[in-house]
Amino acid sequence: MKGLPVQCPACSTRYLLPQSLLGEAGANVRCPSCGREFAVDAAGTLLGPAQEIRGVARHVFDELVARVGPDLEAAARERRLFAEHGPALLEAWDEFRRRAGTNAPSLPFRDELRARFGVELFPPGGE
Ligand SMILES: [Zn+2]
Repeated sequence: MKGLPVQCPACSTRYLLPQSLLGEAGANVRCPSCGREFAVDAAGTLLGPAQEIRGVARHVFDELVARVGPDLEAAARERRLFAEHGPALLEAWDEFRRRAGTNAPSLPFRDELRARFGVELFPPGGE
């Protein structure tokens, strides 16, 4: 199977990322060697720290949208996103922190939320 060559930023292991794992915006990868998660764009370029974290947020929201479905966007338009999907958003937040690291800034997550749904998240724990 054809793949995209990528390199882990933590341990420098090189491998081929299956094309099937790549989305339009790239992919989030977990290094099979050291477990580090990182993001690459659709061309396999490693995204820099800020972009990398934004890529994590994007991926988490992609999964959230895939899981919840189009009602998520309808809810956002009608300003009932938090009322109806609060737990799912908190799960997305937890997932984001799991992948990006517990010290990751919340800004990329909030930026992505704003970009997608036009809503502001009051960050858990503040910042
Ligand atoms: Zn690695």
